[in-house]
Amino acid sequence: MSELYRLGIEEAAAGLAKGDFSSVELTRSVIDRVRTENPKIGAYLTFDEEGALAAAKAADDARKGLGSGSMDGARRSPLLGIPVAIKDLINVKGQPCTCASKILEGYVSPYDATVISNLKAAGAICAGRVNMDEFAMGSSTENSALGRTVNPYDVTRVPGGSSGGSAAAVGGDLCIAALGTDTGGSIRQPASFCNCVGLKPSYGRVSRYGVTAFASSLDQVGPMTKSVTDAALLLQVLAGRDEMDGTTPDEPVPDYAAALAGASLKGVKIGLPKEYFIDGLDPEVKRLTDEAIAKCASAGAEMVEVSLPHTEQAMAVYYIVAPAEASANLARFDGVRYGHRSGRSDDVFNLYARSRAEGFGPEVKRRIIMGTYVLSSGYYDAYYGRALKVRTLIRRDFETVFGMVDALLAPVAPTPAFRLGEVQDPLTMYLNDLFTIPSSLAGNCAISVPAGFTAGTNLPVGIQLIGDAYREDRLLRIAKAFEEVR
Ligand code: GLN
Repeated sequence: MSELYRLGIEEAAAGLAKGDFSSVELTRSVIDRVRTENPKIGAYLTFDEEGALAAAKAADDARKGLGSGSMDGARRSPLLGIPVAIKDLINVKGQPCTCASKILEGYVSPYDATVISNLKAAGAICAGRVNMDEFAMGSSTENSALGRTVNPYDVTRVPGGSSGGSAAAVGGDLCIAALGTDTGGSIRQPASFCNCVGLKPSYGRVSRYGVTAFASSLDQVGPMTKSVTDAALLLQVLAGRDEMDGTTPDEPVPDYAAALAGASLKGVKIGLPKEYFIDGLDPEVKRLTDEAIAKCASAGAEMVEVSLPHTEQAMAVYYIVAPAEASANLARFDGVRYGHRSGRSDDVFNLYARSRAEGFGPEVKRRIIMGTYVLSSGYYDAYYGRALKVRTLIRRDFETVFGMVDALLAPVAPTPAFRLGEVQDPLTMYLNDLFTIPSSLAGNCAISVPAGFTAGTNLPVGIQLIGDAYREDRLLRIAKAFEEVR
């Protein structure tokens, strides 16, 4: 039982159910792993060992029908007694929630996000907080103000971002599963870099109550896991209507694990968006994507070329819409209500200005400035208003192709994990999200699934499957079938 930390949700749940080991043993194994590996990887910012073991004990008691009865509902949940790492922008009562920013240093959450209440009700253990780019702005986790996270497959490289801590924790076996968030690619790209499965649910599928807002028309919480089945199991607990988040519709939540049974690619129609197969693609990413296409075809999928004609505009639209929303969302960090307050101010305006100048890092400031600019009078219509119109065209592109195909297959990012410090220029960093941003703008679901390793450098690369909105069941089924033929 020495390497329990290596397990995913499905295997750990099976072992716990059979009584092969207890949740306390599983949690101890994860804690030991974190103690030895985290100093090298830097996935976690904090880990509440005592809290984790207490929750594990409560889960073991609940499984035996002992305990307070408050967890009786969790007794049949596959998450009962499973440690899940939490991205540091999701509120867990009594734990720090810093968004990897100095401005929130010392802030402790007074309440649980809905995704956390759901996880706790299912018996999951939420004790460790993982690193990220500050306020989820970035693609390498190098924008964290609180620590460095490296790629567990090559410690000289980035884990991706912004959910880099989540990806490094899953890929390096420092947890059983993790939660990330994705606004323009932040679950899918780090999942690709760290050999994980990363699912961005459709917009509104998962509640964002208690999740620090970056760009409210795009943000989604999703699972980062060791298998497609685990992503389905975790999504089951996260998804659904929440009275506290008006963007979650009353759509029924399918049984995602059941949707995986007998998964096959036979007769599945997969679209290859021609705008995603560009010249700038890294040759190894191209090779692995081509291999994935060939494997799908030989497993019986029908591969068809499709077009998403407004792909080229997506990056520009995103870098208007996301900063605009961020500039409004981040206005609440004023040195008065949360976190860092400047000690050098004599009046209230200076208090705001200095607290924000000291608390926010350079990328966050850049986004606030861009966002404020595109929303300012005289520019609003020319930038923000136009971006919204083009966004509608991008959404229509997806609606049209999903009348013809079951899923789209594309690269996740143009390259595998790059070296720490290698990408200095913000615009080059933004290009990481070329293939993930369009489906975020359209509100579709999309998943990154491991596709293999690069020759020579031996770095993991994922492929992206994009699904119709609210069809995570079908997307997961196709992803599962791909995982099996890979
Ligand atoms: N890298 C993108 C950005 O910096 C996406 C981030 C995200 O999805 N949170 O905006």
